[in-house]
Formats: sequence, structure tokens, C-alpha cells
Amino acid sequence: MHYQSILESVAADVAPMVGGGRVANYIPALACIPIQQFGIALHTVDGQQAWAGDARTPFSIQSVSKVLGLTLALQALGNTLWERIGREPSGNAFNSLLQLENEQGKPRNPFINAGALCVADRLVSAHIQPAQAFADLGLRLHGKPFVFDDEVARSERETGFRNAALINFIKSFKQIDNDVETVLDLYCRQCAIVSDCVQLARSFSYLANAGVQPGTGETILSSEQARRVNSVMLTCGTYDAAGEFAFKVGLPCKSGVGGAIVAVVPGQMVLCAWSPGLDETGNSMAARRALELFVTRTGLSVF
Ligand code: GLU
Repeated sequence: MHYQSILESVAADVAPMVGGGRVANYIPALACIPIQQFGIALHTVDGQQAWAGDARTPFSIQSVSKVLGLTLALQALGNTLWERIGREPSGNAFNSLLQLENEQGKPRNPFINAGALCVADRLVSAHIQPAQAFADLGLRLHGKPFVFDDEVARSERETGFRNAALINFIKSFKQIDNDVETVLDLYCRQCAIVSDCVQLARSFSYLANAGVQPGTGETILSSEQARRVNSVMLTCGTYDAAGEFAFKVGLPCKSGVGGAIVAVVPGQMVLCAWSPGLDETGNSMAARRALELFVTRTGLSVF
């Protein structure tokens, strides 16, 4: 298949949608991102790359970092991670406090904020320098450390009252071991990682390749762990639109409010589409449509 021309046709077809939706403005430093941008890239397990549009423009990866956090936590803790975090879709907003009360401070899954905060807590326990562990993971996934946008991290840290509420609430159930401020610092830093479509498609290739990073042959996760991360992405990776994504895209995906969506075609490739305009579910409008068009044109889907 000629992926370059497919991505170019997808980019051309979504162009009229680019600029639709709203940028995430609850994090002040993200409110000023120009909305009129779109990029898409793919990286196959045998090393082919293709990209179109603004695929080399850096953006804030936000919740896509929850996949990196989950990867680091599975490396450090293996299956014991699941003692404190479930893997069921929440059916609530990504930053909801509602279920935590009934479920004794055990978040539904690692991709809602409550779950990602628990993952961050485990990483604070497991690593002397947990933010450095994220940076170093970049080195192993694409040859350079991940970098953080300090301004975005600071902006979210100063205004993230709901995340502060979530973690304090979870701590009241004794499900957080560390100082909440330290965990919030890490969480805001990981969300403020800066990357682009080309780099992210390459970085997440291990998820399409049974846990082994294709370029280097390094085992990042066991094949069972990689399969499970993909399962949680499929069922919980796109906020409250996971059912609709499974229906229309049919791939494990993780989105972030910076406008990126990473999608895994197991055994074949990873895609990353990005455009800052979000729909009412918090997913990028143009990126979501681009993935749908790509799947329709190529027939690549897990179903
Ligand atoms: N840092 C953001 C938050 O906690 C991430 C949200 C997202 O991308 O889903 O609100």
C-alpha cells in the first residue's frame, strides 16, 4: 500500500474540518494554540514512515502521556499495578469525582485522571527521579529524551484544582502513598511533554509489535502487557467516546486535550493524528475523522 499518498488524501479530505471545535482552554497555556493546524503520521513495524500536513509541528501530548505512564508502571510493578486501578470504561468525564466515592478510591482505569494520578503515585514510589524516567523512555523509543514544556506544566499546576481534589480524595481512601503535591508535579510534567506526530507514531511502535520496539529490538513490555495496554486503549482511551471510536475506527486509540490521537494497528503500525480543535467529548475533531478515513481506505482495523 502506498501510505504516503493515502495520508495526503486523508489530510486533503479533512482540511475543511480543520479549525472546527474548540481548543482546550481550561489549561491557560493551551488556550492560545492556533486551531488551524492538522498533521498525521504513521510508522510501520518494519520501519516505513509516512506523514502529511503539520506532522512535524510540536504540541502538548497531554493525556497521551498516560500510555507512557502506564508503560513505565507496568515495567516497574508488573501486574501488582492492577491492585489499585481497574480497567473498566468509566462512562463519566475524564476528570470526574463521582465514581470514586462508591468505589472506595479505586479508579476505574488508568486513562481517566484519577487512574493516571494513581499511576503517577506508583511511579513516584518506584523511581528516585520519576520525571527523568519519562524523559529516558523517549531515548529508548525514538532516540532522544522526551522534553517538557515547563510553562504548560506550571499553568496546569496552578489551575488544576480538580486534579488536586481527585488525588486528595483518593488519598483519603489510603490509595496514594506519596505526598500529593509531589504526585501532582509529576502528573502535570508528564502531561506537558512536547512531541509531534512523526515522533509519537515511532515512539508507540512497540504497542503494534508485541511490546518490542521495532527499530532497536528492545523489549519495552512483554507481549501480554502490550496486548493489555491495547485493550485498555480500545475500551477507555478516548474519554466518553470509546464506543463510538470502536464502532467507527476499530483501533486501540489514546487521545489528549492537546488534540493528538495515537492509534495502534496491532502487528502493522502506529498512527498519530493531531489537530487542536476538540469536539464535545474532548477528542480532536479532525484527527478523529482522519483516523476514520484512513481505516475506511485501507481496511486496517482489529475487527
Ligand atoms: N493534563 C490534562 C488534565 O489533567 C490532561 C487531560 C487530557 O488530555 O485528557 O486535565
